[in-house]
Amino acid sequence: MTTGTRLKAENTTVRYSRMNVLDGLKVDVPDAAFTVIIGPNGSGKSTLLRALSRLLKPNTGQITLDGIPLNKQKNRSIAQKLAVLPQGLSAPDAITVHELVARGRTPYQTPFKQWSHQDEKIVEDALIKTGMAEHAYRPVINLSGGQQQRVWIAMILAQNTDILLLDEPTTFLDLQHQIELLTLIKELSVTFGKTVVAVLHDINLAARFADNIIALKDGRVHKSGKPASVISKQTIKMVFDLKCEIISDPVHGKPHIIPV
Ligand code: ADP
Ligand code: MG
Repeated sequence: MTTGTRLKAENTTVRYSRMNVLDGLKVDVPDAAFTVIIGPNGSGKSTLLRALSRLLKPNTGQITLDGIPLNKQKNRSIAQKLAVLPQGLSAPDAITVHELVARGRTPYQTPFKQWSHQDEKIVEDALIKTGMAEHAYRPVINLSGGQQQRVWIAMILAQNTDILLLDEPTTFLDLQHQIELLTLIKELSVTFGKTVVAVLHDINLAARFADNIIALKDGRVHKSGKPASVISKQTIKMVFDLKCEIISDPVHGKPHIIPV
């Protein structure tokens, strides 16, 4: 794992009405690695992801990308470095896979620079990486849940950014498709050097796939680091209020929790 961190949250507070949803939070996102955010419902995971992706402006503190606060950078230039997949998107009616993935090229289009051969190549490449090339001209709504998630990933890959932020990309997928999608996402960081941050609910899948885990509780980072250092009885009790035993996953050697 590299030690660089292009994306950082410093002393970040986000408040809705009078409640601090993120509370003086500090996060360094390691470059070219897979970071997973875990935490109970309402702990601020989506809020953190939205703040990191400039969809939400912190009340205090700042998010920096390449050392410059997000609010001092142009949207288009951020969108060429960082792509975000919010939770629960639904595709417009009748849109085809290719059309949806092509939307990932929006940050590169201007009135003077229309769709180019290079845009087309990048879209095709995203379809190939996600295994969706053979479905390119099908309507997205006719695809299975797992395939639709791959299309969304292809769309943000077409955005051609180094950083990908994904909010619960595996929700509503069965276990086989969760594993398949996480394998693909992990490969993006291992093979293509992407910096990936994803919110996941399944702690054991997080421990298996992540290089780095951020455990959130009440809008603060309770603990972060490698799965082996974050996933402990104490952390799971504190963060999820769950009593558990931890064993070593016999296949991957990663910590695996067994709720008591
Ligand atoms: P998580 O993704 O960990 O489940 P969220 O970041 O979505 O948590 O939400 C954290 C807290 O902020 C929750 O208590 C939620 O109710 C509250 N919250 C989120 N979005 C809003 C909003 N737009 N207005 C008011 N409260 C919100
Ligand atoms: Mg959420």
